[in-house]
This record gives sequence, structure tokens and C-alpha cells, in this order.
Amino acid sequence: MAESTIVVAGGGLAAAKTAEALRAEGFDGAIVLVGAETEVPYERPALSKGYLKGDDARDSVEVHPRQWYADNAVDLRPGSPVAAIDAAAHEIGTAGGDRFRYDTLVLATGSRARRLDLPRADPAGLHHLRDLADSDRLRAALRPGARVVVVGGGWIGLETAAAAVAAGAQVTVVEVAELPLVRVLGPEIAQVFADLHRANGVDLRCGRQVREVVADAAGGGRNTVHVDDGTALPADVVVVGIGAQPNVDAAVAAGLDVDNGVLVDEHLRSSHPDVLAVGDIAHAWHPALGRRIRVEHWANALNQPVVAARTALGIDASYDRPPYFYTDQYDLGMEFTGWFDPSQPYEVVVRGDLAAREFVAFWLVEDRVAAAMNVNVWDVTEHLTRLVRAAATPEPAHLADPDVSLADLG
Ligand code: ADP
Repeated sequence: MAESTIVVAGGGLAAAKTAEALRAEGFDGAIVLVGAETEVPYERPALSKGYLKGDDARDSVEVHPRQWYADNAVDLRPGSPVAAIDAAAHEIGTAGGDRFRYDTLVLATGSRARRLDLPRADPAGLHHLRDLADSDRLRAALRPGARVVVVGGGWIGLETAAAAVAAGAQVTVVEVAELPLVRVLGPEIAQVFADLHRANGVDLRCGRQVREVVADAAGGGRNTVHVDDGTALPADVVVVGIGAQPNVDAAVAAGLDVDNGVLVDEHLRSSHPDVLAVGDIAHAWHPALGRRIRVEHWANALNQPVVAARTALGIDASYDRPPYFYTDQYDLGMEFTGWFDPSQPYEVVVRGDLAAREFVAFWLVEDRVAAAMNVNVWDVTEHLTRLVRAAATPEPAHLADPDVSLADLG
């Protein structure tokens, strides 16, 4: 393989980890990393958590220091969004007009923030949270006493709300569903997050949509947020956190199979054998679940690259890890492992105290542990992952009983 070239399209965690995994597997050909981002690849979780609150330093979010790329012969090309893929010619073109030939292409182009159409808003007071610059700009706006309206009560919206409260702002969250996070957690545990935010002073308005955001005549980035129940919320800061969209334009144009992301098999190979996809854009066959899933979380971007690198080098590997993610909001820390669809039948079993926000929750689907979450309970991830991976069928009464060790359940 010494002569071959692997191009990684993307400049985030998944891209950097792909380059790292290729070298770790002994690949000594050329690696070109072509990223839209102007920074060296960085990790995003802190951008809505510690970095947004000012607790984490900027270089703590970098995947590797800049020198690592030179030391590992990775040709890092920041500020070079991929514009076109010519799969037949094995070439990509960047927006700046550069062309790179590849033997294998790994797509790691990530996702972008969904936007609302707000033609009357003052953009100076409007925020999204996707990249470092967004986080810097929002942090500067989260001042004591600022009136902050967060649109969307997903992970980004809620973490932002918590950071805004920590900064001394007055925070309102407008969520279209009946509870924040209900579509990912179901109502039983979503309620815990609603209670958490209200207990911390957030004005949480569920089942409500934003009709319009209108710039104040006085200017200064101030807006008025018009909610569909007729209320008008004055806002120094409006944060729109209503989900993300995978960046698949180049993949679609290249004729790859795309449906809610680039369709890939468990080896992360797309419909074109020399093109792989990892991270947010990969709608990947999950052998343990027997279906495709697309996961926008950090752990996916961290771990899929090892499998993609092996596939690229002809080593047999499948991605079968259960999804994993975490959040920190106020004094609540949480980890979630597994996958389930709250719109389908399930049973929730809780070990611990929901009201005290110190518990482990299990979601059982057809009696099997499909997912589990630990809230302010630590060092249990290994057990939860084992139960999820095994699709274990423990007695619900044992799951709920703190006197039965998790290590003894299977
Ligand atoms: P993110 O990663 O940005 O947090 P999620 O998909 O986890 O994305 O959450 C987005 C949240 O925004 C969901 O709870 C969804 O119900 C909510 N949402 C989507 N569109 C609107 C809207 N127009 N107004 C208010 N909330 C919305």
C-alpha cells in the first residue's frame, strides 16, 4: 500500500481519528485531510458545555496539536470544503479549486445546524451552536441579566440553557414537543430533564413553536420572539438549537446511495466500494440492531474511524458498538448507552430516585435491555454496555433493586 493515497474529506473528530487509525494500523501511504473547518480538528461536546461556560481552554478541545499532523505525515488542508467527488476518476475537488486523487476516500463531512427561516430577525442577536466560532460568539453574549430565548429543547438547547443560567442570564426554552428530549428518551425520563431545568429557573414552554423573530427598532441585536400562543418574548440573545442536517451534498451529486445520510454497510463502505463514510453522515448498518442507524454523537465520530481505517486497508472489521453519549447540565451528569425508538412499545425500569436525579434507567424492548442511562451514578457504564450488547433479559425487579449488583445481572 506504500504508493496509495487515502483522502479524508472532513475536518472534525471523525476525520482526525481516521488519519490516526490509518497510521496506527501501519498505513504508510499518503493521507490528505481536506476539511471545511479553518481550525485544526477539534471535538465538539465542550462547545455547548465547559467551553461555552468558559471552564475549558481552547486547546483542550483540539483532537491533536497542529504539529501532530506534520509528525504523522498527514497533509492537513483546513479551509478546503469538498465541492465534488468524481468516483469513477477517483478524484475529489475542493471549493478552492484543488483536486486530489485517491485510492480510498473516507467521507467525514459531519453535519450543520438546521436553521429557521427568520427573515425579520436581527442576525446580530441570533445564534446557532455548531463550531468553535459559534461557541465563542455565544459565550460573549451570555451576560448576567441577558434575556435568552432558546428555540429547541434537545441536547444542544438544554446544555445551552444550563450554560446561560450559569452565566446569570434569564432563560426561556421554547420546545415544540410536549417535553424536551421526549423523542429520544420517552416521557418518563424526559420529565426528569424538564423538572431539572425548571428547578434551575428556566421558563420552559413545551408544545409551543416560534412563529416569528422580529428585530427591535432600537437595534443592538435585540429581537422579539413571537410564540404561537400569542406571547412575545423580548430577547437579547436567541439561540436556535433545532437539530442538525448531514452534509451529504457532494455524496448525492456523486451518485452515492444517500438516504438520511450516506448509506454504508457494517464495514462503513458506501455504495461505491472505494468510498467509506464515518461519523454524523454515516447511516450505517448496525449488525446487533439488525437495522441502519445514523448517530450524531461524539462517541460515534471517535470510534467508527478505527473500523473505517481497517476496511480501507483490507482488514475485516465491523462497527457494532452501541451508541453512547453524555451530557452535563447544572449538577446533573448523565451517560446513555444503547438505542431504542420511543415511538415503539418499551418498558422503563428505574433503579434509584428519579426525583433526587440519582438513578439508572433501563429501557426494555420485548424484555431485552435496549438502552440504559446513568444519572449522577458513576462507574456503571461497563455493566450497562454489557447488558445492552448482550440484549440481556434480567428480571425487571432485579434491575430495579439496588441490592442486586449490576455485575451479577446478565
Ligand atoms: P440538537 O442536537 O440541536 O439538540 P435535537 O434533534 O436533539 O437537536 O433536538 C432538537 C429539538 O428541537 C427537539 O426537541 C425538537 O422537538 C425541537 N424543535 C425542532 N423544531 C422546533 C421548532 N421549530 N421550535 C421549537 N422546537 C423545535
